[in-house]
Amino acid sequence: MDGITNQGLKEIIDNIKSKKISSLELTKAYIKNIESAKKLNSFVTTTFEQALENAKNFDSKPNYEQILPGIPLAVKDLFCTENVKTTAGSNILHNFIPTYESTVTKNLWNNGAFLLGKLNCDEFAMGSSNETSFFGNVINPVGDKLVPGGSSGGSSSALAADLTPATIGTDTGGSIRQPASFTGTVGLKPTYGLCSRWGIVAFASSLDQAGPMTKTVTDCAIMLEAMSGYDEKDSTSINKKKEPYSKNLNENIKGLKIGIPKEYRVDNMPKEIDELWNKGKKILKDLGAQLIDISLPHTKYALPTYYIVAPAEASSNLARYDGVRYGYRSEKGKDLIEMYENTRSEGFGDEVKRRILIGTYVLSSGYYDAYYLKAQKVRQLIKKDFDDNFSKVDAILTPSTPSSAFKIGEKTNDPVSMYLNDIFTVPVNLAGLPALSLPAGTDKQGYPLGLQLIGKTLDEQKILNIGYAFEKNCGFKNQIQKWWL
Ligand code: GLN
Repeated sequence: MDGITNQGLKEIIDNIKSKKISSLELTKAYIKNIESAKKLNSFVTTTFEQALENAKNFDSKPNYEQILPGIPLAVKDLFCTENVKTTAGSNILHNFIPTYESTVTKNLWNNGAFLLGKLNCDEFAMGSSNETSFFGNVINPVGDKLVPGGSSGGSSSALAADLTPATIGTDTGGSIRQPASFTGTVGLKPTYGLCSRWGIVAFASSLDQAGPMTKTVTDCAIMLEAMSGYDEKDSTSINKKKEPYSKNLNENIKGLKIGIPKEYRVDNMPKEIDELWNKGKKILKDLGAQLIDISLPHTKYALPTYYIVAPAEASSNLARYDGVRYGYRSEKGKDLIEMYENTRSEGFGDEVKRRILIGTYVLSSGYYDAYYLKAQKVRQLIKKDFDDNFSKVDAILTPSTPSSAFKIGEKTNDPVSMYLNDIFTVPVNLAGLPALSLPAGTDKQGYPLGLQLIGKTLDEQKILNIGYAFEKNCGFKNQIQKWWL
């Protein structure tokens, strides 16, 4: 049975289907791994008993037609799970037990998977290092002093450490792609509206999108197939036919046009990132793709725009946590107003408070036009840059992040340097486009680095195909020593 858990999802599914392993054996193997990896702090909650029960049920009545037959999965603790605590990494929700299931997780369960546990994340998904979680920071399996990226840091850590065969995260400004890049894994932010937001704890609703995090591109296609789909409960859900992404994977990318945006070569970008980008360009060119220099002139405004729009929406979304209906309530205070104030000041961490303050400021009557309205206009220009170029190219290749995983504590006292880590990922969220982060190499310390493929609206299949071809020719192999055992 040794070795099951370091396989990819596709191989595991094949082994289940050919009856080489049972769902129960598989589940027990993951539980064993999770129990011996407590040092990583990637789990907030485990649901082992329920998982073992589900595995036994599957084995006694297997349905091999399902996309995820008998597969145990851990998911980010931002997805509401019925009768299972859902914290969003926050003290204010530390005892919140939803009475409903998010659409995306329900889709996974309807396709044969079941829950293994809930994964740590930055508080309300605000962060790039998983250091803002109320439940403590998560450690990157790549090295014991390194952050796993954020906000889906529990997801990237658990996946890279073989604690779940695949997982899902959410991406508002980079929270799937950046942690994937930091851990040598694959992460996809789908087109806004492809995966339902219903039942996901909201951060910034016009940017939030759920997506897969996996070890391979094929696994990513399988997960997307299982989790995506129209949902009438989300007013921004796109009503379109479901696509069999994994069956349609095609490595022939001859003749495809790949845009290389000059604005993504930022000041002080480490040489290694530039070299990685060149390596990626060469691989695609050798496979017959055509590289085309393009310009996305408003890129430099993406980060400031994001840090107006996202906090504005967050300040509004987080107004609901007042200690009245659910979640944490402070014992202190002599009247209702004081109860609200104490609940919010004790319940939220510093980063969340910072965002609420910024958001409330940019939405306040005197500053609304100067900040929020202007940011919305710039957002349109950023989107237009992409639209203009997508008449000329099929996809765009950029680095995923401006650096490899940084050290725990290195950026916690400097929020702006933390925000700068999202420089290559936020434009995609502002434009609502799909983007795939692929492991592509390592820096001189041996830490993984990722490249990002940005696609047209609803063109997930194409970036998955390019990613599939890239993966076969890149030769990247994640070398994680299990130092925590
Ligand atoms: N790091 C970004 C932020 O802190 C993005 C987070 C996310 O995508 N959820 O807002």
